[in-house]
Parts: sequence; C-alpha cells; structure tokens
Amino acid sequence: MIKINTKSFDWLEINKIYIDPKGRDWSELDKVDREEYAKLLIEPLKGKIQTQYDKTDTHRIVKQLLEQWFYEGNKISYSKITNYLREKNFEEIISAFEEARSSIIAATDKRFSNILIDWPVAKQKAMEINEPSERKHIITEVIKPGNCHMFAGITITDLGIEPERSTIYSSKEKIEAVTLVYDKELKTIIKEFKAVFNYKSLSKKIRHKLLTATHVMVCPYCNRQYITNYKVAGESRSTADIDHFYCQDRYPFLALSLYNFIPSCQICNSRFKLSVDFGKDEHINPHKRGFDKDGVFRLKGVESLLGGPIEFEIVNVDNSEEIKNSLKTFRLNEVYQTHQDYVGELVKKAQIYNDGQLTEYLENFSELFESKNEMHRIIFGNYVAEEELGKRPLAKLAKDLLDDLGIKIRD
Ligand SMILES: [Zn+2]
Repeated sequence: MIKINTKSFDWLEINKIYIDPKGRDWSELDKVDREEYAKLLIEPLKGKIQTQYDKTDTHRIVKQLLEQWFYEGNKISYSKITNYLREKNFEEIISAFEEARSSIIAATDKRFSNILIDWPVAKQKAMEINEPSERKHIITEVIKPGNCHMFAGITITDLGIEPERSTIYSSKEKIEAVTLVYDKELKTIIKEFKAVFNYKSLSKKIRHKLLTATHVMVCPYCNRQYITNYKVAGESRSTADIDHFYCQDRYPFLALSLYNFIPSCQICNSRFKLSVDFGKDEHINPHKRGFDKDGVFRLKGVESLLGGPIEFEIVNVDNSEEIKNSLKTFRLNEVYQTHQDYVGELVKKAQIYNDGQLTEYLENFSELFESKNEMHRIIFGNYVAEEELGKRPLAKLAKDLLDDLGIKIRD
C-alpha cells in the first residue's frame, strides 16, 4: 500500500473539473474554458441538489443534509459545492449523515438505535464466518444482555456459549420486523442521495481526464500493476479503475468527491475490494498514508540468503487494525508470493553489491550518476526512495528488502 503523491497532481486540470470561480488558479483559464468545464460536473450537480431539495416528498433527512452541506441561508452556494467536492477529510460529512440517520428511529426506540444500525451488518458478517468463536464474537459485539430480549430465542445464557444455528435463524424474523421501518427509510435516503450524486452521470471524458491528471502510475493498493494513461486522437484515456474508498452503496453522498477516488487496478477494485465497507472496517487510505514503516516486507529466516528457498512476508509491525484489514482485503501477502524470482534476484544483487562497492562505483562513475539514489535505482532496478515508490511496480518490496538486507539506500 503506497501513499498517493498529490504533489504530482495536475491541479490546473483538476481544478478545471472541480471548478471554483473564486480560486486563485483561475487567472490562467479564460471564461469560455471555465464555463465549459463547469457544465460537466458542477452545474448538473447544482441542478440536481436544487431539484431534490425543492421536491415536496424528499426525505426530511436528505433535505436537512443538503441544506447543511450546500445552502447558505435559503440559497444554494456555488463555493460550498466546490469545497464539499474537494474536501479531504470525510469524518465530519460521515458523522453528520450518521447522526441524521439515527434520528429515523423514534425517541422511544432510541436506546436500540445502535443495534438497529449495527445488527444487519453484524448478521451478514456472522453468516459468512464458519469459525464458531469468531462468529460468537461478532454477535456478542451487538447483542448484549441489555438488548437480547429483542432476539427471540437468544438468552443471556446463550451468549455465554455459541448460539446454535437454528437459534440465530429463529431470531431473524423478529429482528427483521424491528428493522423493517428503519431499512425502508434508509433505502429511500440512499436512493435520493444516489439520484443527486450520480457517479454514472460523470462522463467518460471527465473520468479519463481526472485519472490522467492525478499522474498515479501504479495501483496504490497493491503497488503491483501499472496504471497507464494514454491518448487516442488527442483524448485522454486510462487503464485504471476509479475505486470509491467509501463505497457508493453506503456513502452515496461521497460518490463525486475528489478524495474519495482511488485510481487503482482492476484486480484490487473489482476482484478484491468488492463491497467491503471501509467506513466500518478501517483500512489504510492511500490519500493519507501508505504502509510506510508500519507494514514492511521482510525475509523470513536466513535460508533465503544461503541459497535456500526464498521466503518473505509483510510484517504488520504494531499489529495495527488498518494494516491487518488492508492485508486481508487485498490479499497482499498471498499475491506477492508470485514475485519470488524478483526477490531472489534482489537478494543476489544485495550480496554482489555491498556498500563499499557502491561507494566506489559512485566515485568512478561520478558523471554517470546524478546521486547515490539514482545509482541504487539503476543497480537494483527500482525506485527506492519513499516518495518515489508509486513510480514503478514492486518498489515498496524492493525498498523494504534492501533495508532488510542492510543496503543503505540514502547517503
Ligand atoms: Zn492493485
């Protein structure tokens, strides 16, 4: 997992799309250009917000949040829209949604509000897991002595042991009856937000322009696959997917937010991530950080150095939850095992080129290499400086293992 380097973003291009008429960058754009771009994202969104807000049957929560996010007095605010779309931290937006969402439940049922929200998710998780103790753990996180009377068939005593499969099923109807109203209203809210923040309405042209402007060259989730931006007849194209870090089904109001887009490879986006809720289970967010020094590749034992089988793994140094979840979701330890030959070559190179020799090369070929860093890249075949890891696949693997092998990467 690699941090996305926002320094390499082409902000002029991005700001054209996320147009802000008051922004400083605008001196370089003429009025026609501004108007053309505004029509592609901001104007249609503004129209949709207004339409939804003005509808008489719009859900009160949707209305309340649209007002909070986009209105000033009773007027929709252009700059509030552009600021919202370029917001980097979603905590405030998400908690406003969650607070409003919990108000669906009548005051008398308030003390059950958490269970009404958490149970459907916990239930789905529990059903997918076969390991009894893990399943029990998930269930008892939600069903506690204080609320277990809601679950027909489950008693406090049951919670001390693994509830039998039939017991869980027998409580299903009861829970469903309780959550019916909540689910129905939540569906309406999600549907209305989806109509406003319609990702599919974002034209292909804009998506490709956006991807190209981020200059992300390698999938930040896996650091294994190139993302290629190219041009056909002057039009930008990209081989990348745009992953929504917070998925559209649960956080539809973030579907168009710049920092919710992670340019990623298809495998990570469509094969591995699927519907995992990154809002519930914490994952590393590449817009904020990478694995850095907390999730590192390490050789296992000394066998690899003695000509034995190559064994390596990603070590979660502080046993962080975010790294644990990211490793699991993207199956990083597993997919990296396919790169044993690469690791084998690195080990041999590290043995051939010791630090003394590297210094000697640098002196002998002082005109050839710009820096020690560049020489390392050429000899070891990859970028090894932290801020450059996103430039080539497997760079993080190379950097960490060279560290592990005692090659001093920085002078
Ligand atoms: Zn990937």
